[in-house]
Amino acid sequence: RAKADGRDTFRFYEKQMGQEVRMRRLMEHELRHAVSRNEFSLVYQPQKKLDTGETIGFEALLRWHHPERGSISPAVFVPVAEDSGAIVPIGEWVLETACNDAAGWDSHVTVAVNVSAVQLHSPEFAHKVHEILLRTGLPPRRLEIEITETALVRDMNRALATLRQLKTLGVMVAMDDFGTGYSSLSNLRAFPFDKIKIDGSFVRSVDTNRQAATIVKAVLGIGRGLGLPVLAEGVETTEELKFLASEFCQIGQGYLLGRPAPLSSMKDDKVATPSAA
Ligand code: C2E
Ligand code: MG
Ligand code: MG
Ligand code: MG
Repeated sequence: RAKADGRDTFRFYEKQMGQEVRMRRLMEHELRHAVSRNEFSLVYQPQKKLDTGETIGFEALLRWHHPERGSISPAVFVPVAEDSGAIVPIGEWVLETACNDAAGWDSHVTVAVNVSAVQLHSPEFAHKVHEILLRTGLPPRRLEIEITETALVRDMNRALATLRQLKTLGVMVAMDDFGTGYSSLSNLRAFPFDKIKIDGSFVRSVDTNRQAATIVKAVLGIGRGLGLPVLAEGVETTEELKFLASEFCQIGQGYLLGRPAPLSSMKDDKVATPSAA
């Protein structure tokens, strides 16, 4: 009986797994066509100086509007697109769209674009970025590539070569989700980053949680020592904001400072004017 139970359990899991694999295959297939079917859009979230409140840039965040299943989070579909390789054409669409949009904004406002490991490790990546900058007319200084630490570990030398090419173009590079990856500190030393983004998990309750406060202060100290500006992600309350400002954190991003919004609704924003198109 125990043996039979085991077999039943196994068949149950096999069936479940089969379903999951089928769902994933379906999503991979759909993602391959999603660009040409215009199912993607970008929303932009402001990045503000904490001393003056000035908007200095926007992060482009990808949204997938599935015809049947509605809006799907990038946390769900980006990993699938990375596995299947679909993230390369999708990422190109993101870069091109974001640069094109940003070219119409005030000349000091930057656009930050998330780039995944698969893109970073493609040998043509920096070349593609160069082409897109030329095509859209966006000055390289106004493009910031956001990279998570997990994107670096796969092939450090390849990643370093690409980052150096990007730096040569004049593009800025930010370390995203700082503190959540592997060996953060050695990555800061080995790679030519221009900015550190402290992960929202450390910013949350920074005003009341001693551990979070200690970590955030330490990262701010590292940023000061290395001469790198630090951006705090996920700022949600005025208490968090006050704490960050009192510790001289330069830049913040989060629902309190502005929610991600489509370009069309940024028309009212005096800082960023959408392109005339
Ligand atoms: P991320 O780059 O760290 O982006 C920040 C995430 O935090 C975004 O989630 C943003 O909407 C969310 N967020 C902003 N402010 C707050 C806040 O105050 N509180 C909370 N709880 N969350 C806040 P989103 O848009 O769902 O994106 C999730 C992740 O998906 C991103 O994390 C990024 O890693 C990835 N992603 C998004 N767009 C792209 C893309 O175009 N390409 C690639 N490769 N990855 C992308
Ligand atoms: Mg990011
Ligand atoms: Mg982040
Ligand atoms: Mg993240």
